[in-house]
Amino acid sequence: MVIEYISCQFYQHYYEFEKDMFLEQKGNKKNRKGWIEVVCGSMFSGKTEELIRRLRRAQYANQKVLIFKPTVDSRYDKENVVSHNKNAIESKAVGSSKDILIHASNCDVIGVDEAQFFDANLTKVCTELANNGIRVIVAGLDMDFLGKPFGPIPHLMAVAEFVSKVHAICLGCGDLAQFSHRKSKEDNLVLLGETQEYEPLCRKCFQQALKDDAKHH
Ligand SMILES: [Zn+2]
Repeated sequence: MVIEYISCQFYQHYYEFEKDMFLEQKGNKKNRKGWIEVVCGSMFSGKTEELIRRLRRAQYANQKVLIFKPTVDSRYDKENVVSHNKNAIESKAVGSSKDILIHASNCDVIGVDEAQFFDANLTKVCTELANNGIRVIVAGLDMDFLGKPFGPIPHLMAVAEFVSKVHAICLGCGDLAQFSHRKSKEDNLVLLGETQEYEPLCRKCFQQALKDDAKHH
């Protein structure tokens, strides 16, 4: 009975917390509370689509919304972040995370796409923006093609209020996939825009693929 009571309390609290996450910012800017959301996962998991869904919804609520992306990512249109299903939203390409601070001050909500390519300072920048009342939504790859934590994403996951790990479908077996296996043997950490060079795999299929890769080297 005691356990039931505690878990009931927990879920009540959890439910309230979750519900807050989906309320758009309201009230005047001075009293506004900021926070950080992270949307992460492998390639083909729909991170950018999820980022855009959240930003577009805020846009409908007349909030000022802007997406930042690293200049290294030439895959996207100059002025728009385009997810693979061609949903577009206004965006700004910046060379370093500090540049985000300069452009974000008038925003209610900001998105950061392909955040794994930003410098380590991104965590500090997002924290400062959230402290100043801005809702910050960060999307990016949580692991590189070797399955190692990628760039500033792990740190952002630690300081964020909300973390959503989204999954692709494993091309090996159809389970949920969280790894981005690189099929090409080129040495760049990530071949930008070369999504055909990668395949989403589950843990088991990824381990097998790494073994097979090692044999062929
Ligand atoms: Zn699999």
